[in-house]
Amino acid sequence: MPAVTVDNVAALPRVNEPDSTVMTERPLASVTTAPSGFEGEGFPVRRAFAGVSMSDLDPFVHMDQMGEVNYAPGEPKGTPWHPHRGFETVTYMIDGTFAHQDSHGGGGVITDGATQWMTAGGGILHIETPPEELVVSGGLFHGIQLWVNLPAKDKMIPPAYQGLEAGDVTLLSSTDGGSLIRVIAGEVAGHAGPGSTHTPMALLHVTMSAGAQLRLPWNAGFNALVYVLAGSGRVGAEGRPVQVGQLARFGAGDWITVRADDVGASRHSELELLILGGRPIGEPVEHYGPFVMNTRAEIQQAMDDFHAGRLGSIPENALMPHVPDPHPFRAEHTGI
Ligand code: MN
Repeated sequence: MPAVTVDNVAALPRVNEPDSTVMTERPLASVTTAPSGFEGEGFPVRRAFAGVSMSDLDPFVHMDQMGEVNYAPGEPKGTPWHPHRGFETVTYMIDGTFAHQDSHGGGGVITDGATQWMTAGGGILHIETPPEELVVSGGLFHGIQLWVNLPAKDKMIPPAYQGLEAGDVTLLSSTDGGSLIRVIAGEVAGHAGPGSTHTPMALLHVTMSAGAQLRLPWNAGFNALVYVLAGSGRVGAEGRPVQVGQLARFGAGDWITVRADDVGASRHSELELLILGGRPIGEPVEHYGPFVMNTRAEIQQAMDDFHAGRLGSIPENALMPHVPDPHPFRAEHTGI
């Protein structure tokens, strides 16, 4: 799991531990397990937020862990062109490469620690697909897609696109040097990441070495979610066990506690976490397919607008989905 990494975590700026004489630890509220499924043309995903109510997720709507999967040649899959309205899609690639293009002129290739932040706003069409050379070669693929809601006043804003390169991510160390903290968006303990967000929030990817403990200050106005990408550990004051594919949700307070299991207790030597939270929007959420609005009438309007071509059109010379090849060992693939 490369994403962005460093040789000497202890040399990075440090996140100070919370002062427990004046600050309160957040209690653990729930631990849920993501079921596995398949997205679009068939890449394997874990539905990270399954079993958690919309009000507890607010301002987030949906999150998929894509992979981790090691594709054989001809196997990599993406999505077809499809619409969105009313929120932002955030794609963070940990391993592998994804190409993206949208109807508003945004797009690019993201790989190994880069993030694309697409504000769908009033409407956009886009495609996410592995580049041709990766389809041919196969290889490792692992990423996250997160949907961040927009408040009613921003749902119909013009679309926008931010490409956040892996090198832009803010790297920090825990106080004990045992955890590498990557700030992708928002800020933690005064250290800001590169992503600009409409809804106040923070998004981190944290790698904890075996046996490390993290006492992480967390904005008291945000909810607090910890998703396990790989490995196993314990969360909260009571040390509830969590492992890959599980989501821990914390209650109100000023900081969270996570511990990585010792060497030998886990198949992975490190505990990999996505830690996220934001200020709840506090509005009704109507989520249907690729649209996230406030009312059913607005969902119907989004579908009508999509069918009338008002969410955008596929550009000329656009990326197109790679159709699964029924003969993956043809001569042009193997060079035979
Ligand atoms: Mn999409």
